[in-house]
Amino acid sequence: MASHERSCGVSNQWLGLDIGGTKLAAAVVDDSGIVLSEVRAATDTAQGADHVLESLIQLGRAALADAAVDAVRGVGIGCGGPLDPIEGVIYGPPNLPGWVEVPVRRVVEEAFALPTVLANDGDVAALGEHRFGQHPSEHGLVYMTISTGCGGGAVLDDRLLQGATGSATEFGHIVVDPHGRPCLCGMTGCLEAYVSGTSIARAATEAIQSGAPTILSQLDKPTAEDVVRAASANDAVATRVWMEALEALAAGLATITNILDPDVIVLGGGVTRSGSALFDPLESLFRGRQFRRTGLPPTPIRPSSLGDHVGVIGAAALAQKEFSK
Ligand SMILES: [Zn+2]
Repeated sequence: MASHERSCGVSNQWLGLDIGGTKLAAAVVDDSGIVLSEVRAATDTAQGADHVLESLIQLGRAALADAAVDAVRGVGIGCGGPLDPIEGVIYGPPNLPGWVEVPVRRVVEEAFALPTVLANDGDVAALGEHRFGQHPSEHGLVYMTISTGCGGGAVLDDRLLQGATGSATEFGHIVVDPHGRPCLCGMTGCLEAYVSGTSIARAATEAIQSGAPTILSQLDKPTAEDVVRAASANDAVATRVWMEALEALAAGLATITNILDPDVIVLGGGVTRSGSALFDPLESLFRGRQFRRTGLPPTPIRPSSLGDHVGVIGAAALAQKEFSK
């Protein structure tokens, strides 16, 4: 009955595909953002782009079969940049070694015989939270993801900001300290060099190597999660490492809000699952950093409401936005 209602009702469905450096995901999502089916697999980057794309297509077919619906109108794909959303081509993202000039959109479009659109994963996530998340935003929503890297996207006045070359809202590479830490991108003092899980873990390792007394030294390879846990247990070194990350994050968010002035900032990704250990101190550090009319409260900073599904729901939202006109 459910599938009969879906096929006869007003709702269309969209196939959302998420290409990540460690996992691939595919989901069928309806017009109101409900996930009807979702499947995932590890990304076997060592096998190259053709193999990974074949796996992605198989996942997409499995998601379509599971959902058993017949009004799928288009496919949306989210992937880490750099990429060209207009041409639908991926240009060597750092998390997908060897993906130099891969025409992902054309390959997927031919496989499913459905209109297909590609965008940066941060842009896609912002669109997903804006359309289907729990954070009402009339004028604008900023989404930032903080996991192994740092990225994001923004929807402003109902438009997804992609910029002249598809590289708008690369929030991880906002410079928070011009004389600061080196970033993997080759620049210096980028936000990502402070707040990504990798960067927090590196800062913890450096602190241990400096000989500072810390419970982290009992661990072989401390992770960002270990740092948060040790900071919550009042370990001084872990607290310093964690606060350094949060200060950089507050500075980065202040820069973003001073440029875009969104209604809400949504944070997603592994590092943001620390809950109040992140959001409480961040709110204090962020307060007073915005240039705005006296008396206005700071822009609210909220956790992602779509969680692990943000990539595929966002990709479906991208297809909906593109093809339901
Ligand atoms: Zn950078």
